[in-house]
Amino acid sequence: MISLPHLLRFCAALLLAATLCVSLDASSALAAEPGVAPLELVVLGSGGPGAGGRAGAGYVVRVDGTPRILLDAGPGTFVRLGEAKLDIRRLDIVLLTHLHVDHVAELPGIVKARAVASRSDITFEVFGPGAAQPFPSTRHYIDLMFGKHGAFSYLQDFAGTVSFNTTDLDHLTAPKTLLSQNGLVISAVTGHHRDAPAVIYRVDYRGKSITFSGDIDAQGHAALTHIARGSDLLVFNAPVLDPPASPPALYSLHTAPGDIGRISAAAQVSSLLLSHLSRDIDESRDAVTQSIHRTYQGPVQFAGDGLRIRP
Ligand SMILES: [Zn+2]
Repeated sequence: MISLPHLLRFCAALLLAATLCVSLDASSALAAEPGVAPLELVVLGSGGPGAGGRAGAGYVVRVDGTPRILLDAGPGTFVRLGEAKLDIRRLDIVLLTHLHVDHVAELPGIVKARAVASRSDITFEVFGPGAAQPFPSTRHYIDLMFGKHGAFSYLQDFAGTVSFNTTDLDHLTAPKTLLSQNGLVISAVTGHHRDAPAVIYRVDYRGKSITFSGDIDAQGHAALTHIARGSDLLVFNAPVLDPPASPPALYSLHTAPGDIGRISAAAQVSSLLLSHLSRDIDESRDAVTQSIHRTYQGPVQFAGDGLRIRP
């Protein structure tokens, strides 16, 4: 039979073991895993506006292993976010390249997913383009979704307080630092996507860098070449083939493989990821790669939903 002092000692030992487990868990969550990459890109959506089996544009950037940044949130990215099994409790930076449906339509779903993941107060730092008819500014868009009179105003106080610190990025003719936080630097410059105000972003951390072209036409090429200079990874939206193989109207919105190669070479980026892919591009991968390699000698990859890259 077990005596009472024995039982008490046994319980005390159990308690100590449980406490140790909790503290070990907490410390391993805080410390960077050995060999953890400074930056990791997780592709949520590698498609465009067509329903072609890929989610619309969207990415998460992990910083020292922690998912911190959401860049665009196109249709389907909510499901991909769940499939990626990411712990999004510290995801609070949102970068929007422009306000087309295939880039922002799933933002409310992801905001709610983030709110219920932590059930504590959140302030999202949101950056996106300013207004130009018929597009609202990013501040107005966030207000239309989550503001006091917005469609989803109930989210403001659903699982903790949800608030937004939103910055409209207008007329950035040279790269500007938006955020500098413990070595993480996010910068942006104004891009060009025909009539839709557009922004190009660059993320730098611990000597690594990723630049996102967003949807971009020829009028944005100089700005992209400037901000992307020396990037370890350039994510280039590539839905059109070299002229004249795609519908003419698309060339006033997007960049063809020949120009993607020229820009990547001029900016001296270390690697290239083609994303926002159309069926045309998928069916012509060899020709696309050859066209790019006429001027750019670095590695070229095609994105897929769920792909992870550590630049
Ligand atoms: Zn698009």
